[in-house]
Amino acid sequence: MQPKQEHKALIIKVSDLTHYMLCPRLVYFRARGYEQPKIAEGKERSVIEHILLKELGFNVRKVYGGNAEGGEGYKQDEEDVKQVIEDIVDGVEWIYKEELKTVGKAFFEDVKSDFLSGIGNTEWLEKLKNENTTLAELERAYGYEREHTMRSEKLSMVGSVDKLIRTEEEAIPCVIKTGRCPEYGVWKSDRMQLAAYAMLIEEEFGTTVQRGFVDYIRTADIRESHIKKRDRALAFQILKHVKKIKKGAYPDKGENAPCDSCAFIDRCETKKTLLSKLLGK
Ligand code: SF4
Repeated sequence: MQPKQEHKALIIKVSDLTHYMLCPRLVYFRARGYEQPKIAEGKERSVIEHILLKELGFNVRKVYGGNAEGGEGYKQDEEDVKQVIEDIVDGVEWIYKEELKTVGKAFFEDVKSDFLSGIGNTEWLEKLKNENTTLAELERAYGYEREHTMRSEKLSMVGSVDKLIRTEEEAIPCVIKTGRCPEYGVWKSDRMQLAAYAMLIEEEFGTTVQRGFVDYIRTADIRESHIKKRDRALAFQILKHVKKIKKGAYPDKGENAPCDSCAFIDRCETKKTLLSKLLGK
C-alpha cells in the first residue's frame, strides 16, 4: 500500500495580503521563489529612512513619557529627547542587521546623520510632545507587545502585528506606517491590514476586536480606525485570491502597480509578452 501523501497546509502571511493590494503579481513572483533583493538599487536611502522611522515608531513615545516595551518613563528635557532619539537610531544597525547587511558603513552613517538633523526639526518633535491621543494614553497605561506573532490554522493565516495593546477589556492592533498620511482617516490597505490582524487576534484571544490604530510616524499622525465589516470582508476576499495565486494562478497586474521600482519588471514583462502573443496582441 502506498504511504499516504502529506499535503503541507498553505499558510498565508498578512504581508502577502498587503503585497496583493500593491500588485497581485508581487505575490505570484514571490511565491515562485523569486525573492526581491533586500534593498533595490537606487532605493538604499529611502529604505534606511523607512527603517529608522519604523524604529522611532516603536520607541518614540518613551521620549515623551509613553511606556514602550522596556520603556523608561518621562524624558522631557530637549537635550534628553535628542539623546534618546539618537540612541534609538543607533540601535537600528543591530536590530536590522540582516536588512542592512549590504549597506556600506559610511553611507549608513551619512543617511543617519541627515535623518537626525531632519528629525531635530521641531515641528515633528513638537507634535509628539503635545500628542494627546488615545493611542498615547493606552501605551502609557498598558504598554504594548512588539511584533506579536499569531497563527491561525482555521484561517490559514499568520502575521506579526507591530504593536499589540492589551487592556482588561480589549486587544488592540497598531501598525506603524512610514509612508504618507491620508488627509482623513486611514488608507484602505491599512484598514484591510488591521482587519486581518483583528481576525488573528480574535482567534488567539477569543475576543472581538473593535478598533485598531495606524501610526503615520513620518508626520507623527495617529489615526484610530473602527474595524468595519467591509474591511474584514476585503481581507477575507484577498486571502482567498492569494491562496489561488500561491497555488499557481497568474493574476492581473494591480491598478496602481509600482512597476517603476519593481524588481520583477523583467520577468513580468516576459510573461506579459507571452500572454500577448497567445492573445494575438
Ligand atoms: S512589474 Fe508591475 S505588474 Fe509586474 S509584479 Fe512588478 S509591480 Fe506588478
